[in-house]
Amino acid sequence: MRQRLSVAEYTRGILAGDRTLLGRAITVIESKLAEDKVLATEILQSILPMTGKALRIGITGVPGVGKSTFIETFGQYLTSSGKRVAVLAIDPSSKKSGGSILGDKTRMENLAHSPHAFIRPSATGLSLGGVARSTRETILLCEAAGYDIILVETVGVGQSETLVKGMTDFFLLLMLAGAGDELQGIKRGIMEMVDSIAINKADGTNQQAAALAVNEYQNALHHLPGSSSGFVPKVIACSALEGSGIDAIWQMIQEYEVLTRENGFFAKNRQFQNLDWLHDHIRQNLEDQFYGNAKVKAKLSASEEEVREGQVLPATAAQQLINLFLGKH
Ligand code: GDP
Repeated sequence: MRQRLSVAEYTRGILAGDRTLLGRAITVIESKLAEDKVLATEILQSILPMTGKALRIGITGVPGVGKSTFIETFGQYLTSSGKRVAVLAIDPSSKKSGGSILGDKTRMENLAHSPHAFIRPSATGLSLGGVARSTRETILLCEAAGYDIILVETVGVGQSETLVKGMTDFFLLLMLAGAGDELQGIKRGIMEMVDSIAINKADGTNQQAAALAVNEYQNALHHLPGSSSGFVPKVIACSALEGSGIDAIWQMIQEYEVLTRENGFFAKNRQFQNLDWLHDHIRQNLEDQFYGNAKVKAKLSASEEEVREGQVLPATAAQQLINLFLGKH
């Protein structure tokens, strides 16, 4: 069994940039144990004044588009310019054993060896909402540990993008120049969410197709409603494998940051995200207490049965259970 450390020991270690302690603190945050939850909150509270300074970048794209190759190249580009980079992931498949899309340990091997990078795979054994909550808190820990850039990776399949969008300052979609129907497979909702698009694998014989795709996506983005950030989304071709276009992408992200810090969107967006997380925690906390309540537990199966059989309306059964929870009759 691992030795329990005090909040002060965790805090000191994290602030000193100790990766082992940072890793252990993240494990506490991901834990479902009640005592760890208390400890996690205390650690977070204690490091809170040292958080918020990093630039948080979300990266998404379908499996195979080159996310890990891109993060490896982009991450090394950033560390070579003196930045400290943390890479986190939200993998909607990590719950199912063996179904992990992002959890492969051999990914980003070079970056993983850099003393200026910290890579943490997606939490396992948690619901998607649980993974999102622990990732948000891990961002704060990484910031307190001195990481300047936080990259949060997710797979382009559904709800996880919305979650990553909700915890980052800039959201980048990686795409490929495909033969034929370029917009196939990409949901309009994702296009509306992203701050920019990178067309990856723009190398070798693929360069011309990539240039065409840049135009096509630029046009597609023009037809979408303007973003409230005031930034006009860009489409940039890159090759994560060869390193081309990476500097242009970093330049663009910096332009975005300067613009949105000046026009106030950057701070407003973070405030909005904080409020969103508050309500997420309220919902989750209430739900945990509700389903953990002894009286609710005693009555739940019977209520479910009544609802299944159509004897009681779902709304009525819900109200009865909530009354039990609140101690009303
Ligand atoms: P992920 O599933 O999105 O993380 O994609 P990977 O980074 O694992 O890349 C999938 C495959 O595409 C691998 O074989 C990579 O070597 C290859 N790949 C990634 N980026 C590039 C690139 O810029 N150019 C070329 N030609 N291949 C790439």
